[in-house]
Amino acid sequence: MDRLAGKTAVVTGAGRGIGRAIARLFAAEGAHVVLISRRAESCGAAAEAINAEYPGSCTAMACDVATSAAVEECARNILAAFPNIDILVNNAGITRDSLVMRMKEEDWDAVLDTNLKSAFLASKALMRTLMKSSAGRIINITSVVGLSGNAGQANYAASKAGIIGLTKSLAKEIAGRKVTVNAIAPGFIGTEMTLSLPESVREDILRRIPLGCIAEPEDVAQCALFLASDAARYVTGQVLACDGGMSM
Ligand code: NDP
Repeated sequence: MDRLAGKTAVVTGAGRGIGRAIARLFAAEGAHVVLISRRAESCGAAAEAINAEYPGSCTAMACDVATSAAVEECARNILAAFPNIDILVNNAGITRDSLVMRMKEEDWDAVLDTNLKSAFLASKALMRTLMKSSAGRIINITSVVGLSGNAGQANYAASKAGIIGLTKSLAKEIAGRKVTVNAIAPGFIGTEMTLSLPESVREDILRRIPLGCIAEPEDVAQCALFLASDAARYVTGQVLACDGGMSM
C-alpha cells in the first residue's frame, strides 16, 4: 500500500465525490495530498477525515480554480509549503444544464471556466515543479459526454471534449520532460452531481450501462492511482474510460 510513497499530489475539487475519493486513495498509498475545493469548509472537512485515517497525509487549501488570480495565489501557497509537486489531478467540475436555445451565456462561461480553463490554469501554474519531478503526472477528469455529446449539456460536453484536446496537446508538449498527461472519462458515478437527478433519468441512464450498475467514486480513484503510479510510466496522452462500458 505504498505505491505513491514520497510523492506530493494536488487534487482539485477534493471536498466531495470523486476528488475526495482520489485524495483518500492517494493518501492511503503514501502520498501527501493537497486538497483543493471552492469552499474552505468542504476541503477542510475532507482533509480532516482523511488525516484521521492516515495521520499527517493531507493539507486543505480553498481556491476558486476558475479564476486565474486565485489559482496563481494558491499555487504560490502550495509551492511555499511543498516545493516539489509530483502529481496534479484536475478534477473540479460543475454542471449548469439546459438546452442551447435556453442556455444563458453566464452558464456557458461558468462551466467552461470551472471545468476547462481551470485545468489549463492549474497545469500552467504547477508545470515547472511537475517537470522537476522524476515522474510528473497530470490527470484530467473528463466525462463520457465529452466523447459522445449529450442533449441539454452542450456547455458541459464542450468543456469535457476540450479537456481531451488539452490532455493530448499538453502530453505532446511535455513528454520530453517525462511528465505524462492523461484523462479519465467517468460514466455515471454516484456523487452529489448525479444523485440529485430524477429517478426516471437515473433509470434511463442505468439501461445504457452494459455492466448494469452505477459506479462508486472509488472506481474512478483506482484509475487515477494507476495513472499516477509507476505502473503507468509509459502511458501518456490517453483517455481511460471508467464507465461500465457506456462508451463501447
Ligand atoms: P461533486 O459535485 O460531487 O464535487 C465537485 C467538487 O468540485 C467539489 O469539491 C467542489 O468544491 C469542487 N468545485 C466546483 N467548482 C469549483 C471551483 N470553481 N473551484 C474549486 N473547486 C470547485 O462532483 P463529482 O465528484 O461528481 O465530479 C468530479 C469530476 O468528475 C467533475 O469534473 C465531473 O464533471 C466529473 N464527472 C463526474 C461524473 C459523475 O457521474 N459524478 C461523470 C463524469 C465526470 P466544494 O466542495 O467546495 O463545493
